Amino acid sequence: MGRDGKGSVGFIGIGTMGREMVRNLLKAGYSVRAFDLNEAAVADVAKAGAARAQHAADAARDADIVITMLPDTPDVEAVVYGENGLLKFPPPGNLIVDMSTISPVAARRIHGDLRQAGVSFIDAPVSGGPLGAKNAALSIMAGGEAEAFDKAEPFFRAMGTTITHVGASGAGQTVKLCNQLICGINIQAICEALALGRASGVDLDLLRRVLLGGSASSWMLDKLGPAMIEGDVGAGFRIDLMLKDLRLVHEHAQALNVPLPGTALVTSQYVDARAHGEGANGNQALFRVYDRMTNQSTG
Ligand code: NAD
Repeated sequence: MGRDGKGSVGFIGIGTMGREMVRNLLKAGYSVRAFDLNEAAVADVAKAGAARAQHAADAARDADIVITMLPDTPDVEAVVYGENGLLKFPPPGNLIVDMSTISPVAARRIHGDLRQAGVSFIDAPVSGGPLGAKNAALSIMAGGEAEAFDKAEPFFRAMGTTITHVGASGAGQTVKLCNQLICGINIQAICEALALGRASGVDLDLLRRVLLGGSASSWMLDKLGPAMIEGDVGAGFRIDLMLKDLRLVHEHAQALNVPLPGTALVTSQYVDARAHGEGANGNQALFRVYDRMTNQSTG
């Protein structure tokens, strides 16, 4: 039990996003038992007041809710179906929320399997990046039964500001994939505008500022534009994770016979970025593809 009678959370996946989300849950008065394969990540949030768990079942053992924030579908499946997994050892609160970005089809399968065991499952991926996670300002898009969503909502409020129940199981992941294809294509559009502006000798800071005041304005231009202009490719939302999301988008679209030509084009550029060793860099490193195509660089 947390401060002022607030509930307890088992949190699995203490990475770029998870560590900030755990800190915000603790700040809001929830107790958190944290698990990650990387012990240093758990030690980091233990300093902020989280208890350390040895495995997934240990994180769940006295939790009202378990939240997972893992890289990809197989990681979530390992935590649910694995030896010390949540299917065998669900939390006493019988509520599991996956906030990772994974396949909507896998989310529905996990939902069905857990439901047979009497456990509710919500897919609730997020948008807003590490800064949104740090500022408890994430946009959270949730799929699953309304009753389970209502139970999870107070916990979401500690981590996000825009919290929406978008439909049945899997709907949260579908909305997130729509979000990701817009982000990818938008990043590409910004790279192209900056490449053209640079080749024309326009001041890129001014270009960005003017565009932010008009109809070409976007979150990406605001948040990633400065890093692109300065040539800062450091951490953030990694190229590798975006490629994972674009793969999920294509798999989903193909299964539904929806052509996505714009997404296909930007995906090739992300593949090019990864082939040039940019996989661990932030998404702003997509601009390096344009550096190579124009034989110019910033920063
Ligand atoms: P990350 O790679 O930084 O963190 C993932 C953590 O999960 C790592 O610490 C890893 O050790 C741990 N992990 C992996 N497998 C595990 C297992 N079986 N058991 C326990 N721990 C395990 O990733 P992130 O950037 O925090 O992203 C997490 C999820 O959120 C991804 O699905 C990503 O697509 C999504 N997301 C990320 C961002 C972002 O900007 N970074 C934004 C929105 C959504």
